[in-house]
Amino acid sequence: MKANIQDFTKEELSKLIKPPFRAKQIYSWIYHKYAISFDDMKNLPKALKEELKSSYEIEPLKIVKVEDSIDGSRKYLFRLNDGNTVEAVLLLMKKEQYHKDGAIKHQAKYTVCISCQVGCKVGCSFCLTAKSGFMRDLTAGEIVEQIRIIKRENRIDANRRLNIVYMGMGEPLDNLEAVVKSSKIFSEPDGMAIAPHRQTISTSGLSSKIKKLGKMDLGVNLAISLHAVDDELRERLMPINKAYNIKSIIDAVKEFPINSRKRVMFEYLVIKDVNDDIASAKKLLSLLNGIKSKVNLIYFNPYGGTEYKRPNPKDMLAFQEYLTSRGLHCTIRESKGLDISAACGQLRDNEEH
Ligand code: SAH
Ligand code: SF4
Repeated sequence: MKANIQDFTKEELSKLIKPPFRAKQIYSWIYHKYAISFDDMKNLPKALKEELKSSYEIEPLKIVKVEDSIDGSRKYLFRLNDGNTVEAVLLLMKKEQYHKDGAIKHQAKYTVCISCQVGCKVGCSFCLTAKSGFMRDLTAGEIVEQIRIIKRENRIDANRRLNIVYMGMGEPLDNLEAVVKSSKIFSEPDGMAIAPHRQTISTSGLSSKIKKLGKMDLGVNLAISLHAVDDELRERLMPINKAYNIKSIIDAVKEFPINSRKRVMFEYLVIKDVNDDIASAKKLLSLLNGIKSKVNLIYFNPYGGTEYKRPNPKDMLAFQEYLTSRGLHCTIRESKGLDISAACGQLRDNEEH
């Protein structure tokens, strides 16, 4: 079977291909000019092109479906070569702003949410991705290709600000090796050059892997899907809490190397009558004491068959107000793409049922 050329860092490629400087040219063709065939790579000698064609492929994913939301987010469903599907979402965080003379004042700001596994083993009770079980890990190249396609399709060139969040389908720390490699490929200066501080790895809290990732000191941001402040409730929502309880997560976060201008993000999925009370906000505040953190409150996004409900905006605001008035950074995540069911796993679900 042919290898996917996006599976390799530039350093690896320069060891595989002779002479090594060709790796830089190939990177440029793939990540700047979005080449889809080796024949397109005009400055490579014919013999090398033939050699590459016989050993590598370039397109590990194909777009199956694109859905636009009225708020500007755009959701992609991709098919992998083995027929499995995964999704990614492009979010327009800030529109381009212009000076009166038409010159650009501020570039548009994008965030892309990508998947790292087909399905997920963690099995959180509120998550649609979990419902379909676990099929397999994505390779680094399959993770990388989600961004390459989205950049190409939306003409997001190198000077635009693009952030990556590993918050699509799957648990990044359960596929650590491929995720770390994809992160390195994203930040490659001769490739897409998306710096580590523009990348956020979100985890359900595999404490031992948080420590392992921390020791690698990649410079990426960390997001913890906390969702509950006591172990009993967290076990109900996230069975993984039996193996890694809240204390073990907090201890691992305290050891994590955080960029001096950044904070660890704690995601708190707010579910009506489950965890939306002020007593929880109070516990959250004390739990995060001493950690350079910010909290992101997320509206639970309902789907057919779930017992959970979307919280009242009034309760969300009261929760936020409790935290911010006591000095904790806390935002409410706009339910972007609600009309296209942008929460993870929901586009794939619509397609398959
Ligand atoms: N597995 C990792 C990353 C992917 S999940 C993790 O859990 O952190 C990314 C986020 O999507 C999680 O914070 C999760 O809580 C959220 N999510 C899952 N189902 C959701 C739903 N129905 N509504 C809103 N957010 C949801
Ligand atoms: Fe997996 Fe994250 Fe969904 Fe939990 S919330 S099942 S960890 S994708």
